[in-house]
Amino acid sequence: MIDLTITQSKAGLKEKKFSATELTRAYFDRIRATDDKLHAYITVTEKQALEQAKAIDKKGDYKGLLEGIPMNLKDCICTAGIRTTACSRILENFIPPYNAHMYDRLLNAGVILLGKTNTDEFTMGASSENSFFGVTANPWNTACVSGGSSGGPAASVAADQCAFSIGTDTGGSIRQPASLCSVVGLKVTYGRVPRYGCIPYASSFDTVGPITKTVEDAALVLQVMAGRSEKDATTPDEPVPDYSTFLKEDLKGLTLGLPKEYFGQGVDKEVSDTVMAGVEVMKKLGAKIIEISLPLTKYAIPTYYILVKSEASTNMARYDGIKYGHTTDDAKELQEIYMKSRSEGFGDEVKRTIMMGTYALSAGYYDAYYLKAAKVRALMKKEFEDAFEQCDALITPTSPTPAFRIGEKVDDPLAMYMCDILTTPINLAGICGMSVPAGFSKKGLPIGLQVLAGQYKEGNLFHVGHAFEKATEWHKKKPNV
Ligand code: GLN
Repeated sequence: MIDLTITQSKAGLKEKKFSATELTRAYFDRIRATDDKLHAYITVTEKQALEQAKAIDKKGDYKGLLEGIPMNLKDCICTAGIRTTACSRILENFIPPYNAHMYDRLLNAGVILLGKTNTDEFTMGASSENSFFGVTANPWNTACVSGGSSGGPAASVAADQCAFSIGTDTGGSIRQPASLCSVVGLKVTYGRVPRYGCIPYASSFDTVGPITKTVEDAALVLQVMAGRSEKDATTPDEPVPDYSTFLKEDLKGLTLGLPKEYFGQGVDKEVSDTVMAGVEVMKKLGAKIIEISLPLTKYAIPTYYILVKSEASTNMARYDGIKYGHTTDDAKELQEIYMKSRSEGFGDEVKRTIMMGTYALSAGYYDAYYLKAAKVRALMKKEFEDAFEQCDALITPTSPTPAFRIGEKVDDPLAMYMCDILTTPINLAGICGMSVPAGFSKKGLPIGLQVLAGQYKEGNLFHVGHAFEKATEWHKKKPNV
């Protein structure tokens, strides 16, 4: 049961081949058997999940779009009454009084929550090594990272510890771990899914989206989560299409662009060769392939890190040791409470973020850094808009390399930031992108292919991704955990 897709599980439940309780139990058995090795889960909600499953079985019609489907949430998504830590010491024992709005939408559709999964602290990172609770290992090779920041979500989907997961993506945090673990990861258009109740990293970049076993499943989960919410002013009234109508099996009539800057320096040859082999498949499915140039790509990393760390430094200001989470027991006056609680509560990358961001925003530097980066961001957005005048979607690698070894980059922030070279431009532009499994390296590590489309064009991602998936077998391969 545990390796079924959402669509297959829904059919199994409807046809009474198994119950939601049996399905939920099977996942907990799997978590117990594998999570010592992987460490994907931070909190497991077994009792509550089995109660939910029992109620769903009692009703017995499995009518909701996701009714009876067991899943997990990245631990930066608030769940009422269930610990939500953002994998930071400062929120180690934080219990939110309310649910994230998109989680309420999932609950209304009938999901069963198995637990909360690992992330880099406050989602800052690309390897999940910055988690206060320790790293999540890659199911394909446990000496390697699962990627980040949604390492827990991606590893848990790859290892069949859930039917699907929800992650967040500010600069690649859904797509990169999906690529490193051989699962599907969708970064939605900025504003497509409400973020009320998602603990922020950088507010003009953050998005929340699904990590699934197939593209069809990603379309289904987005269907449930997307759309305007009164609780999030960044969600426009843009209509939500019926995403299932995009799941076609050929690519006739589509033009796909290959941005040459995404295949150049810094990208492993094995990775670009694998993606080019995928492009050949798409050509056979009827797509027209053209070359595109996005010359501003080289500015993505500095632009992204100036803007994101600036926004993050202000977002982190709310953790004062009083309102939420950890309070030092070693302070005599207010200033000391702030300083000591924050020094004790935050890890290295968060401290680096606060220093970089505060510096970039300070008087005298604001124009040189933040303002300049904001201008480059506007130009990059325009560059993508021009590209999408010429094609329906872009095809690129997701991550410049397959999974690296645990410990390999953690002490070198710049090397870690370079992991995001192919994913951050998409967040800067606010457009959508998806990583799909596309092959394996000689060492047997997964390689993902990234499909990009314009604002609110998630349908194009599903079209390209689904047709590719139907023509290939990569998504069916399973790690041996
Ligand atoms: N690695 C990137 C960063 O640390 C992206 C993380 C994310 O998308 N949350 O900023």
